[in-house]
Amino acid sequence: MDAILTTADWHTRAAALQPRKQAFIDGQWVDALSGATFDCHSPPDGRLLAQVAACDSADIDRAVAAARRSFERGDWANATPRHRKQVLLRFAQLLREHRDELALTETLDVGKPISDSLTVDVLSSANCLQWYAEAIDKRYDEVAPTGPGSLALVTREPLGVVGAIVPWNFPLIMAAWKIGPVLAAGNSLVLKPSEKSPLSVLRVAELAVEAGLPPGVFNVVPGFGHTAGAALALHDDVDAITFTGSTATGRQVMAAAAQSNLKRVSLELGGKSPNIVMADCRDLDRAAQAAALGIFFNQGQMCSAASRLLVHVDLKDALLERIDALAAQLQPGDPLDPATRLGAIVDGPQLQRVLGYIDSGRAEGARLRSGGQQCRLESGGQYLQPTVFDDVQAGMRIAREEIFGPVLSCFTFRTEAQALQLANDSRYGLAAAVWTQDVTAAHRMARALRAGMVYVNCYDADDITVPFGGYKQSGTGRDKSLHALDKYTELKTTWIDLT
Ligand code: NDP
Repeated sequence: MDAILTTADWHTRAAALQPRKQAFIDGQWVDALSGATFDCHSPPDGRLLAQVAACDSADIDRAVAAARRSFERGDWANATPRHRKQVLLRFAQLLREHRDELALTETLDVGKPISDSLTVDVLSSANCLQWYAEAIDKRYDEVAPTGPGSLALVTREPLGVVGAIVPWNFPLIMAAWKIGPVLAAGNSLVLKPSEKSPLSVLRVAELAVEAGLPPGVFNVVPGFGHTAGAALALHDDVDAITFTGSTATGRQVMAAAAQSNLKRVSLELGGKSPNIVMADCRDLDRAAQAAALGIFFNQGQMCSAASRLLVHVDLKDALLERIDALAAQLQPGDPLDPATRLGAIVDGPQLQRVLGYIDSGRAEGARLRSGGQQCRLESGGQYLQPTVFDDVQAGMRIAREEIFGPVLSCFTFRTEAQALQLANDSRYGLAAAVWTQDVTAAHRMARALRAGMVYVNCYDADDITVPFGGYKQSGTGRDKSLHALDKYTELKTTWIDLT
């Protein structure tokens, strides 16, 4: 059994950590061709963690060329599914064996609590890789029912070179949702992490090669979005881009694909998800707990955050009193303390952005019930109290825009029709929830909600077997589940004349 580490143990390990800081291209550690680096600061205390290679379009060219060579070589693309399974299973196992190191890297890089990095981020990334490894030798192709005079085979082939661009809120998990199906399907991958969170995936690429992945199949190119990310999206030799990030950047990625080689694009974007508590919700304690965790977990930096609470007017006071009490308990602490449940905000600009929304909520007439203040200033890091706004109106910025911080906006309604109208009044459609004892109403509302994921009497239920993604401007395509494999394969029809 793993030893239980104390806060002091984690601080000792943090002081000794030597993160990888070069790009990983063609199985080698390399500097950016320009020699440029960027500073990677740690949100918990602001210290400099590493000076990381600031790659740009020249490095992207080099990584795409390595990925293309590896694809043409075929030692991964044409490997038997059983072989790919074995390598990916070993890869998943290596993540588990390096759990402490990866969790520490993640916590220092983005500020999330170490207990979450250990039990959520590293383990669910390893489980994701394992699941796709196990899936890949159990998928069959098809024979179409064309009649006795022909044999029409419908087969799936890897696409070629896939570019993945991922955000900073769950650096390992968001990458794993791409790495698992992209590699299982036999593609070569160029991954561009966020410049705010490059460290854990750099280490993971090294573990992939240790597991037996041929060089060039999995490359990680750290750098800025407007240079490295834009170059990857615009590259003529990239067959697909799989992107997770904001709706604004997703739009640029789609435009880049249209301007270049019409590469396939899948987008997992932002959200402003409604959590509806109907008048017959019986277990208010449970609903309050789910509402609080739905917006405060990961410091609210979640695409699927339950950021809009829609509560029946008769339950409002009872529910919000419970949520205020939970917010008071969930004060931010040292992310390296295993008891901490709320960590740091990823960086200063993001903190200022969230504080700007809190100011706008006040200015537009919403009532601040809880939080709203920066805290733990003595730490040198960026921390924010969990924040709850009441009396929010549909036109306010805090009602419409994705805040991506621990800020809950509460609305009231009287009828089911009003609740649905408010819930669907958004350009986003990622997740939604309904709390009710009425099974008919639950099904009726789940159908009416324009969202990719609907939860009934729960929030953020999660399993790798289930697709994840949104309607409307929350994106196109789905991560997770067997459906994700379709994004990274071409469908080929082969006719054989039997006459
Ligand atoms: P951004 O859109 O700012 O960045 C996402 C990635 O795109 C980063 O790697 C970024 O690089 C890169 N990038 C930035 N500009 C460009 C460009 N012009 N061309 C190509 N790539 C570019 O999002 P955040 O990192 O701030 O992440 C938060 C967003 O992600 C939220 O909107 C959230 O809802 C969404 N998200 C969606 C999920 C989903 O599954 N639907 C899951 C998790 C998050 P760099 O950071 O280095 O600039």
